[in-house]
Amino acid sequence: MPRIGLGVYKMTEPDIALQAIETALDNGYRHIDTASLYNNEKEVGEAVRTSKIARNEIFITTKVWNTDQGYDQTLRAFEKSLNLLNLDYIDLYLTHWAVKETFVETYRAIERLYDEKLIRATGVSNHQIHHLEEIAAKANVQPMVNQIELHPRLTQFDLREYCADQGIAITSWSPLARGGLLDEPTLKRISVKYGKSPAQIIIRWHLQHDLIVIPKSVTPERIIENIDVFDFELSFEDMKNIDALNLNERTGADPDTFSFSF
Ligand code: NDP
Repeated sequence: MPRIGLGVYKMTEPDIALQAIETALDNGYRHIDTASLYNNEKEVGEAVRTSKIARNEIFITTKVWNTDQGYDQTLRAFEKSLNLLNLDYIDLYLTHWAVKETFVETYRAIERLYDEKLIRATGVSNHQIHHLEEIAAKANVQPMVNQIELHPRLTQFDLREYCADQGIAITSWSPLARGGLLDEPTLKRISVKYGKSPAQIIIRWHLQHDLIVIPKSVTPERIIENIDVFDFELSFEDMKNIDALNLNERTGADPDTFSFSF
């Protein structure tokens, strides 16, 4: 799974989505993170096909939305996503949020898609330790990925430790805290020290913590900037300085109290 992907949430204008994905693929991205909720699976598939990059070199993630959960419903939602993407298979399929009544059955359907080789990897999103424990008790194949909100204001230490023990990779969503951390003084100071932007410093912090990172941007220079992070390394001390920015502060919903009804 490529360690950096382009997040495409809120790219609902087809031309903007197509242009952003095309810029990303032209500049070395090989991983796109979408969801049925994002209303742009069609554009993601189109951009992948027109890129002329071999299908097996590009990693596509999509997700089953809350109101489509349940065993049969998930299989139907998957078929719809596959048709919109117009691809033969999806690399990673995730339960978007753990809807209390249905998340286990939803994951069992994802396991079936994996057995049928329609997806290359199974996973979940916004699952807490107690959700993962419930799945572990009932599933044959452990989720391979948990995609969660994670950035320097929400470092998710306990969940990261649990997932590492269970061999579950973590993808950080809103890795830049939706752009809200770019003026933070510690990050700005570290940014000057390394001659890199605050966004690049944050992305590097995710990578050095062994996280998969999916920053979203529709701005060509930022898309390029966000993957230009392989020519420097943060020191142990600077990693700790960034870890210390944690406030357990979410930009999005809490998975245990999220309203699942829409
Ligand atoms: P991000 O943390 O990726 O921040 C995106 C914002 O930062 C945009 O406003 C973007 O602006 C700006 N930005 C990006 N790069 C830079 C840069 N180099 N310099 C300055 N500003 C920058 O937030 P998202 O919430 O979009 O999260 C990323 C992805 O995570 C989503 O697109 C989606 O794929 C996934 N996600 C998953 C969720 C889940 O429940 N599983 C929930 C939320 C997100 P602009 O676009 O204008 O350039």
